[in-house]
Amino acid sequence: MRRSRKVKILATLGPASSEEVMIKRLFEAGADVFRINMSHTDHEGMRTLVARIRKVESEVGRPIAILADLQGPKLRVGSFADGSAELTPGQTFTLDDNPAPGDAKRVHLPHPEILQSVKPGHRLLIDDGKLHLKAEKTTGKKIVCKVISGTKISNRKGVSLPDTDLPIGALTEKDRKDLDAVLATGVDWVALSFVQRPEDLAEVRKVARGRAALMSKIEKPQAVSRLAEIIELSDALMVARGDLGVEMPLEAVPGIQKQITRAARRAGKPVVVATQMLESMISAPVPTRAEVSDVSIAVFEGADAIMLSAESAAGDYPVEAVATMDAIATQVEKDPLYPGIINAQRSEPEATGADAISLAARQIGETLKLSAIVTYTSSGTTGLRAARERPQLPIIALSPVIETTRRLALVWGMHCVLTEDASTLDDMVDRACRIAYREGFGKSGDRVIITAGVPLGTPGATNMLRIAYIGSDGLSGL
Ligand code: PGA
Ligand code: MN
Repeated sequence: MRRSRKVKILATLGPASSEEVMIKRLFEAGADVFRINMSHTDHEGMRTLVARIRKVESEVGRPIAILADLQGPKLRVGSFADGSAELTPGQTFTLDDNPAPGDAKRVHLPHPEILQSVKPGHRLLIDDGKLHLKAEKTTGKKIVCKVISGTKISNRKGVSLPDTDLPIGALTEKDRKDLDAVLATGVDWVALSFVQRPEDLAEVRKVARGRAALMSKIEKPQAVSRLAEIIELSDALMVARGDLGVEMPLEAVPGIQKQITRAARRAGKPVVVATQMLESMISAPVPTRAEVSDVSIAVFEGADAIMLSAESAAGDYPVEAVATMDAIATQVEKDPLYPGIINAQRSEPEATGADAISLAARQIGETLKLSAIVTYTSSGTTGLRAARERPQLPIIALSPVIETTRRLALVWGMHCVLTEDASTLDDMVDRACRIAYREGFGKSGDRVIITAGVPLGTPGATNMLRIAYIGSDGLSGL
């Protein structure tokens, strides 16, 4: 089984897609990675989903990546005596440290550190920005605000503070427990929400100890302004356009998406474009023209993966949503303008053996119109550098480490296969040809280009390129 596109599809699981048959249908429609949203899943539910995904993985015989998405410090107001309150623009409304139920004059904000951090003039955006308040007076125990726009506030609505540096790390008490649980269950990627600063990553990395790779969700202006440092410490990035579009002006989001995808590609770190990609498909079997265009932009930018949220988790058409993304991506990648647009953003290789060989493999592969680049990668690092080149030909990543094959399922252009390390040079070439043949990348007489590190099994020592013919038995011919 091979995909006919390079960009990967990430589908969020939820009530509409938690049964094993549905997970399998989503995989067959094109989902390469499944996201478990810890904001809406308890530990038992998470373990059940992981077990079902692993069952599907073994049935289909392809590595599947699992991303556990931690809720992060999402701030919420307390509750109201009547469940909600009606407000009038221009009136005063106060957030305070009093846990008593709220009314049209005040409500509890159960985050003491936030009450101390907001300064007069800061914006408070409630319920995805539908209610806009401005802080006028602060005492450390309450924030007296003026209602700028919006008329309604109700129980436990989210609060965004785009102007305030929050004195909190990326992990809440709940996140710590969730992190321990997902690491113990064996997920491949952990996503951190509302990352603000590089230190947030360091904290999580200490706990993770390499058991999962870390994806930073860029959804705060503070993270955008320290993007380079955050990329440096992350294994992957997500352009989390949902919260980003609340915290920043909506019209700034497309440019920021380009900035993040370019910076991530330059660093050779996978980047996911997320949220509202096919939003109307939550309740309709076909997307809007604008949504098709939005998905196509992410594919033309060379993002590693495009993501479905509620469309696959809670919508009426989860399979159709995945199939629609698959169709758009496949078509875009066939477009005659696609290679030129992707190439325009390619970065020069860094001065390492892996980069120089990845560049050479792409050039040789494209010049000779070879069937695939086959790369031996144990930790996945060499695989990532090969993908950074964004070659026109497919990349087959061979690894003896199952976790590596799963993690790389998120990465642009990668077809990962679990195989033991080759014992000799001949075995290495034969094995590469046999796998390319078996997985449908070439037929007898086609050629592949192989990259590896010799002596075999030495990590981080990619130093060899070899062109090989696929023989009639799938072994190396000449
Ligand atoms: P969420 O993250 O779906 O967990 O909020 C994605 C986003 O904010 O875009
Ligand atoms: Mn978010």
